[in-house]
Amino acid sequence: MFYNSTRNSNVKVSSAEAITRGISADGGLFVPEEIPALTYDEIKEIGGMKYADRASYVFAKYLTDFTDAEIHYCTDNAYSAKNFETENIAEIEHLFDGTYMLELWHGPTCAFKDMALQILPYFLTTSAKKINLDKKIVILVATSGDTGKAALEGFKDVEGTSILVFYPEDGVSPMQKRQMKTQEGSNVGVCAIKGNFDDCQNGVKAIFTDNDVKSALDAKGMMFSSANSINWGRLVPQIVYYISTYAELVKNNEITLGDKINIVVPTGNFGNILAAYYAKKMGVPVNKLICASNINNVLTDFINTGVYDRNRKFYATVSPSMDILISSNLERLLYIMTGKNDNLINEWFGKLAAEGKYEVSDDVKAQLTEEFWAGYCDDEQTKATIHSIYEKYSYTCDTHTAVAVKVYNDYRTATGDNTKTVIASTASPYKFSNAVLESLEGGKSEIDEYAKVDRIAELSGIPVPSALADLKNKPERFSDVIDKSEQKNYVLKTLGI
Ligand SMILES: *Cc1c(COP(=O)(O)O)cnc(C)c1O
Repeated sequence: MFYNSTRNSNVKVSSAEAITRGISADGGLFVPEEIPALTYDEIKEIGGMKYADRASYVFAKYLTDFTDAEIHYCTDNAYSAKNFETENIAEIEHLFDGTYMLELWHGPTCAFKDMALQILPYFLTTSAKKINLDKKIVILVATSGDTGKAALEGFKDVEGTSILVFYPEDGVSPMQKRQMKTQEGSNVGVCAIKGNFDDCQNGVKAIFTDNDVKSALDAKGMMFSSANSINWGRLVPQIVYYISTYAELVKNNEITLGDKINIVVPTGNFGNILAAYYAKKMGVPVNKLICASNINNVLTDFINTGVYDRNRKFYATVSPSMDILISSNLERLLYIMTGKNDNLINEWFGKLAAEGKYEVSDDVKAQLTEEFWAGYCDDEQTKATIHSIYEKYSYTCDTHTAVAVKVYNDYRTATGDNTKTVIASTASPYKFSNAVLESLEGGKSEIDEYAKVDRIAELSGIPVPSALADLKNKPERFSDVIDKSEQKNYVLKTLGI
């Protein structure tokens, strides 16, 4: 299996190269040349395996340059009881008739990003060895809150790497900020940007493709790679849990092999839902992929009209990990949907960079509405949803997951479709304790962050994850706040260049 660049179909690299480079030199994203197939027999077989082996099975189809031993080394280390608070790694909870919550937040940082970022460091260091790279790998991360912490935990003290994370100063929850500022490890750095997530992400992308910076790093024996979902090594682990969940539902007789399911994903950078699309294209029977957004609803409009227009107001919401106006992974989807037409991708993403807007072809519009359904909700509806599912089903969810539940309810009302449905539950409610507690109690409370955590524990009965309980006593190590224009110099300075 080789990987093309979305901006140049002639680029052909191995998975080890795609993972170490993170992004193609032409600015495109790496995509597998073909999507490998999965038969029903294989899905059944996967259902009999533990999570690490399910993952190995799927990776063997994509990372064909890795040996079995290398793949198992990665999966056994990442998906073990030492990193996850549950043996199943991803838990499936029944919410109401035919509706399941896929809890992806039982890892060390309590968000679904752990599912990929626990394994990415193993992929990356294994890949570097395979291609005889003797450079130090510098991971640059732009985060809307959860990726940063998950990447820091994944890469801390990993030999041959260092990691620098940028987050929007006012764009993350207090718990997320504390998680990052108190990060331990000798190879880590954290810095706040005066701006929003898109500013952080644009800065990081510009630094990645800056040739002067690249040669300066090269001279020092270093190179950049990415832990954002633009890296294929981030995306491929996310495909696994959709396949795993389907296999698990079959195994538990919740569905019959071949039955279609809907998948609902609270979406920001379009990584998680794209992974579900890949699972579908591999052969998992999926009816609709439901894309749920908060009031930053650029994707809702895009899926419904085929016009992507980022020229709109940016809102800071109670679901900050979805406060994004440029969803990077759409580029991969459109590359597939245009039949690998790199000319069209260059045209559209050139327009996005220049004018903040592009419109896809009629053919792609038709595919978008065939495969996806999109909706959004605001903060008040998000909080009301947390309240109502707590009342109705005694289930406590975080703000991002609540957006997905609300949009799913709207989908059912609009379509009458009662196909069994899996909702991706992307974070622990404790990570967004302000908004969650306010929703549960129906009003703001003045107690501090940690008292809120205790109160949520009383109400929900969900044990407080040990990583969050420990935060209280950890010293803050990182307090830098810079202007977005200083980002490049900050990187160089931090690396001693
Ligand atoms: C990152 C994140 C999302 C959005 O996922 P994408 O892959 O960027 O679309 C949703 N919810 C939570 C809690 C997240 O951390």
